[in-house]
Amino acid sequence: MSSKYVYAFGGGTAEGAASQKPLLGGKGAGLAEMARLGVPVPPGFTITTEACIHYQRHDGAYPDGLRDQVAAALARVEELQGRRFGDPEVPLLVSVRSGAAVSMPGMMDTVLNLGLSRAIVGARIAAGEDARFLWDAYRRLLTMYGDVVLGVAHRELEKILEATRDQEGVATDPELSAGALERVAEAYEALIERQTGAPFPQDPQDQLWGGINAVFDSWDNQRARDYRRLNHLPDDMGTAVNVQTMVFGNRGPRCATGVAFTRNPATGDADIYGEYLVNAQGEDVVAGTRTPQSIHPDDQGAGGMAEDFPHAFEELQGVARTLEAHFRDMQDLEFTVEDDTLYMLQTRTGKRTGPAAVRIAVDMVREKLIEESEGLVRVEPRHLVQMLAPEFDLDERQKAEQEGRVLTKGLPAGPGAASGRIALDADRALAMAQERGGTPVLLVREETSPEDIVGMHASVGILTSRGGMTSHAAVVARGLGKPCIVGAGDLSVDEERGEVTVGGRTFQEGDALSIDGTSGEVIAGELATRESQVLRHLLEGAEATPGAAAFVEVLAWADRARRLRVRANADTPDDARAARGLGAQGIGLCRTEHMFFAEDRIMLVRRMILASDAADRESALERLLPMQQSDFEGIFDAMDGFPVTVRLLDPPLHEFLPHGGKALEDVARDMGLPADRVAEKAAALGEVNPMLGHRGCRLGLTAPEIYRMQVEAIVRAACVRQKAGGRVLPEIMIPLVGTEEELEILRALAEETAARVQEEQGVTLEYLLIGTMIEVPRAALVADKVARHADFFSFGTNDLTQMTYGYSRDDAGRFLPSYVEQGILPFDPFARLDPDGVGQLVRMAVEKGRATKSDLHLGICGEHGGDPDSITFCDQAGLDYVSCSPYRVPVARLAAARSTVGAGAGGED
Ligand code: PEP
Ligand code: MG
Repeated sequence: MSSKYVYAFGGGTAEGAASQKPLLGGKGAGLAEMARLGVPVPPGFTITTEACIHYQRHDGAYPDGLRDQVAAALARVEELQGRRFGDPEVPLLVSVRSGAAVSMPGMMDTVLNLGLSRAIVGARIAAGEDARFLWDAYRRLLTMYGDVVLGVAHRELEKILEATRDQEGVATDPELSAGALERVAEAYEALIERQTGAPFPQDPQDQLWGGINAVFDSWDNQRARDYRRLNHLPDDMGTAVNVQTMVFGNRGPRCATGVAFTRNPATGDADIYGEYLVNAQGEDVVAGTRTPQSIHPDDQGAGGMAEDFPHAFEELQGVARTLEAHFRDMQDLEFTVEDDTLYMLQTRTGKRTGPAAVRIAVDMVREKLIEESEGLVRVEPRHLVQMLAPEFDLDERQKAEQEGRVLTKGLPAGPGAASGRIALDADRALAMAQERGGTPVLLVREETSPEDIVGMHASVGILTSRGGMTSHAAVVARGLGKPCIVGAGDLSVDEERGEVTVGGRTFQEGDALSIDGTSGEVIAGELATRESQVLRHLLEGAEATPGAAAFVEVLAWADRARRLRVRANADTPDDARAARGLGAQGIGLCRTEHMFFAEDRIMLVRRMILASDAADRESALERLLPMQQSDFEGIFDAMDGFPVTVRLLDPPLHEFLPHGGKALEDVARDMGLPADRVAEKAAALGEVNPMLGHRGCRLGLTAPEIYRMQVEAIVRAACVRQKAGGRVLPEIMIPLVGTEEELEILRALAEETAARVQEEQGVTLEYLLIGTMIEVPRAALVADKVARHADFFSFGTNDLTQMTYGYSRDDAGRFLPSYVEQGILPFDPFARLDPDGVGQLVRMAVEKGRATKSDLHLGICGEHGGDPDSITFCDQAGLDYVSCSPYRVPVARLAAARSTVGAGAGGED
């Protein structure tokens, strides 16, 4: 017996269910579940992804039994509908659509009206049916079949339609007469035959299998492969094929087609949200060729679906409630109204903006639809990132308005502010983004299509002149978290001339435009941005907007759920305060060298480095000490009650020296030395390979007075704060350790210095840890020995990655993008921790370190500490905390919680 490849749905039942998404694809699973729930779904059947995989693996051969199963399922649909496929008396028409397990917007193609032929059109007209409707349906079949199945350029087909409109003197397709549409169909048939060498298949069975093959084939087209590569999706999932009875939204004024979300996908507002077009077919909405109207009345209370289709609208609202309660998530729905009767064509989890994701999760937890832990699964790190993204600076914005630079307003499809040089096609957007060394590019198009995906990725924002909130551009931009405006109808985009015209002004490709995806405004020129509402609330005490309040609530769930603690990398009291505002539970890395670069210090640092004798060096250090001390006091104060890890000097000394010119002369003058002597000394400090050279603890061991001064400053500051009643938790960290001995000696130095200072200050610190970074692979390999002298390990995964791969941190940009492009590396290991190699060293060091000291405290302070995937790794590896830049702290708190609840890091969907 052959396996089951076909699952029927409709007529109040279904063979499949929502749980079978990998097999039935998202669309097929949704249709099956809707049919089971009694939602009105036109009957049909789903061909499984397994059939597609078989087809792909066997050069286009079907699995055994597929044809018979399709025939049986089609017979069931015929029975239910009282119609027959290919029968001129009672013809059944079907749609064929793809549907992979993971939604891939626009990747796969749809063919409608399969089952029509010239003979059937003729027979129905002879029987008195609407000739205009029939010719229109036939020419739509020819368009989609020609384009999708036979590969005839859409543009060529479109030209014929345009020419016919011109001849008839009409502006839109609905105005074309039956005769005109018949001529369009004839011209299409001729074009298809000319281009493919064969006539359009008149046999409905040939059409059906042609459609099925096209869906199977589209799994492997370039666009689909690009999308999967960009979204890290496997290539062997396959797509299902859905064959479904046609219902017509374009059969007169009592018909419509539309899309709806059970909640607002841009703001998260808990009210059904959607758009529809009267007398139109679904592709008209999705393709964005006509701008649809809202299902709600306009500002004056006019229009809306409740007025146009009261019965169907009431039913739609009911269906939305049923589906949301059933799936317990916001759904994205497609529907058609045929003669005032509602039919549902699709339900799937709706894509949403960051603010909407947060708001919906918070509302659903309040409505007791989901648990907090489920809320944490729903809110992904990128959603918070989006809410932390800058907005336009208000003053700049006002100025732009006064200067008349606000050009037009479109639909706010993706929130956030973006300024960039405009590119009018996706390939150029990509080229410009790469060419100009990353200058932001804004993609401006009439509308976008799946071919544009790579260009959309490369752009900071997307602006289209056509389409609605559910057009391709809107859906994809929302998924990417990019600011986006669609349907800016005043905008005229002339791709051939490389020009955009709006409000009498013309912009050439490369000119700057700005878009506010929150308000929908398009502005001429570039605009400065300002902090998001969330940051203003968290850092400046501005009143919480509803969005900011929901953001805070999600983080409260995260804090209750997570095991990992989150610290920040912060070098100044200001950074430390910001870090606290964002929820950091301490500082995991204070890079002391950053303080050295302050204007009032650098001269002293240079004197210290260039000193010709010990006395000269001591005197420079003595003057630096109080400055460092006061910085530490400020940081300890800002972090009262929380641990602060201060790392002793790390970079090679020559980094502090001027590289010739005036700065060098200034230093020489200040030191009373001839400039050429100073230049000589600076040159002598130069290294061939400074990253592997005289830096980190190697400096501490060869010039111990520097570390001594730093420890003294740290301990003095701690004593001062403790005396003042503060709770100070200092942790002294030695960088770049590779041998046990290095740490042993430097620990002794730190302990002696700390003891001396405490005695001088008459204070015994309640807390003082001395530990090391694990940055050199050897330190991980001998971590059991290193741990003898460490109270804690902090993984410096920037250096650890550099030294494990042997890739220079500063030069890897020259080849890493190409490595990732070629698939040599799955991702940039400096951005995401490599779990196999670098991660193995981390796990080994954790194990060996804890074997020596069971209470060894463990953290990470490399850049990976703020990356969600790496945070999941750190949680699983058993670290105690992650440390990242202050602005990544909220995301890290969420990522840590998501790891606890098993949600994974969460990325693009
Ligand atoms: C590291 O190497 O991961 C680290 C945090 O130190 P730095 O980036 O300062 O070298
Ligand atoms: Mg380092």
